[in-house]
Amino acid sequence: MNGLEAKVAVVTGASRGIGEASARVLDAMGAQVVLTGRTVDDLERVANELGNNPIVVPADLAKPGAGTDLAERILEVVEGVDVLVNNAGIPMRRLPESITEEEIDLVFAVNVRSLLTLSIGLASSMKSRGGGSIINVSSVAGVRGPGARVAYAGTKGAVDAMTRALASDWGPDGIRVNSIAPGLIATAIWEESRNTIPGLIEDMEGQIALKRWGFGDDIADVVAFFASDSSRYVTGETLVVDGGLARVSASATPQVLPELLE
Ligand code: NAD
Repeated sequence: MNGLEAKVAVVTGASRGIGEASARVLDAMGAQVVLTGRTVDDLERVANELGNNPIVVPADLAKPGAGTDLAERILEVVEGVDVLVNNAGIPMRRLPESITEEEIDLVFAVNVRSLLTLSIGLASSMKSRGGGSIINVSSVAGVRGPGARVAYAGTKGAVDAMTRALASDWGPDGIRVNSIAPGLIATAIWEESRNTIPGLIEDMEGQIALKRWGFGDDIADVVAFFASDSSRYVTGETLVVDGGLARVSASATPQVLPELLE
C-alpha cells in the first residue's frame, strides 16, 4: 500500500513492538515518520532502517505536560502533521485490592492523559492542512472485562470513548479519529506476565478463534488502513484486531445437543 507521499506521520512508542511495526509500514507507504518514545538508541535503530527522512523526538509521556510539550517540539522540526498513531502504553496487572494510587495515576498518565494532550497539541496543525487521521491503540481489555487489570482496562475504555468524542469535535475539520483494539500480540509488553503467570499465554491462545498470537504487523496493517484514504468515510470507530478473542466464541463445535446441528 502507498499513498502517504508528502505526508508526515507521528508514532508514539515507536521503539519496538506495535509502534515499530507501524512506523515501518507508514514509511513504506511514503510518509515521513516522526518516531517518539523514551529510549533514543532504540528509536534510532528503527529510524536507521526507514527511507523517508525519519525524525526522532524523544519524550517520556508519564510526566505532567509531556503530551503538550512533545507536540510543540514536533512542530518545531516538521511543517505539519497529517497522521498521529497514539500507540505508547503501559500494562498494569494488579488485583483491585493491591493496586496503589500511584500505579493508577501512572497508567492513566501514559495511556490516557498524554494521548489526549498530544492529540490536542497536533490537531491545529492537521486542521490547517485540511484534515488528518488520528489512530489510537486501545485494547480488547477495554472491551471484554479482563481479570486483575482494572486500571489498564479503564484506560483503554477511556481511549475508545475519547476516540468517539474527538471524532465528533474534529469531524468538521476533516480529522478522522479511530481506534484499534489489539488482542494478544507478541511484544515485550507480555514479558513480565509470561514469566510470572505460568500457562497464561497458552490459556489465552486457546480462547482465540484463529489459534495464534498476533504480531506487530497484524496491527500495523490496520494502522495503514486508517492512515490511508481507503478509510476516508470511517471515523469514531473501534476496530477489534484480535484473531477472534473478545467477540468470537473459540469453540468450533457448540456444546449443544447433536440433533440441533443436523
Ligand atoms: P511494548 O511494551 O513493546 O511497546 C510500548 C511502547 O510504548 C514502547 O515503545 C515504549 O517505550 C512506549 N512507552 C511506554 N511507556 C512510555 C512512556 N512513559 N513514555 C513514552 N513512551 C512510552 O508494547 P506493545 O505491545 O507494542 O504496546 C503498544 C500498545 O498496544 C500499547 O498501548 C498497549 O497497551 C497496546 N496493546 C498491546 C497488546 C499486546 O498484546 N501486545 C494488546 C492490546 C493493546
